[in-house]
Amino acid sequence: PGNNEASHRCGSVAVVGRPNVGKSTLVNALVGAKVSIVSNRPQTTRHRLLGIATVPGGQMLLVDTPGLHRQEGRFKASAMSRVMNRTARGAVEDVDAAVLVVEAGRWDEEDSHAFKVLSDAGIPVVLVVNKVDRLKDKSTLLPFLAEVSKDRQFAAVHPVSALKRKGLEALVADVLALLPEAPPVYDEDEITDRSQRFLAGELVREQLMRQLGDELPYATTVEIERFAEDGALLRIGAVIWVEREGQKPIVIGKAGARLREIGSKARQQMERLFGRKVFLETWVRVREGWSDDEAALKAFGYGQ
Ligand code: GDP
Ligand code: MG
Repeated sequence: PGNNEASHRCGSVAVVGRPNVGKSTLVNALVGAKVSIVSNRPQTTRHRLLGIATVPGGQMLLVDTPGLHRQEGRFKASAMSRVMNRTARGAVEDVDAAVLVVEAGRWDEEDSHAFKVLSDAGIPVVLVVNKVDRLKDKSTLLPFLAEVSKDRQFAAVHPVSALKRKGLEALVADVLALLPEAPPVYDEDEITDRSQRFLAGELVREQLMRQLGDELPYATTVEIERFAEDGALLRIGAVIWVEREGQKPIVIGKAGARLREIGSKARQQMERLFGRKVFLETWVRVREGWSDDEAALKAFGYGQ
């Protein structure tokens, strides 16, 4: 009473859900910049990353995570798979709220499990039903929403399209309402807790996920060897690590065409995100079996 300053809310929000439902796309849409890489392959996100969304009346610290996944198929019990699951679990500790992302029309046992884990931990869960733009028959949406929220207490339910940025304003209002009254933690021009160096590596990895065939993306990782300012220019050197000698020529492509395309697209994304000219050099090197090697994973920054 007597205090006519508008209240400000700030808190952390875990973004959880199965692989490929659009968690990173949602984080980027809310932040308003590509802080988290996106591809049509599951397991694109390998790290825990904070997307900072400063909006009128508050600041949401969005924790993007690798989706929890079963350790099977190409992700069978490798060290990488274990580290990613550990990262996803750790990300929901100490958050003020969670956004559970699912695809419109699809509810799996994993979604039930994720909801239970969160609500048992006393974390309010906002259900985001994403990709509504893909629904052929819109009349299926309401019954789906009714069905999934029948025996579950969601703090709110929002059908959205993260890709087309539909339904996000109402979502933001409901998420903010779950956060404590607190001043912003970050300056309003900050968009992530990760360094530009880290983001540069991710943008190269995004192109590997997008441009390489089915299995190879999962055998690659990126290490930024050089990140230097040179006047108005950023000079970045990226090493693409593969697991076996035979994978090298596939990444490089005929007369180097594939590697050039990967570098060119990644550089464009970097220039957009960093707002300056980038000179990017790339190399492909072999580190035998790195994805199942705890020491190598640590050296490459996984699990941090
Ligand atoms: P994540 O694994 O949950 O982080 O999912 P991503 O954000 O990487 O997205 C997985 C795929 O779904 C990408 O190809 C996205 O472009 C696509 N996607 C995400 N949101 C939407 C959406 O609202 N509509 C449609 N049609 N596709 C989407
Ligand atoms: Mg992701």
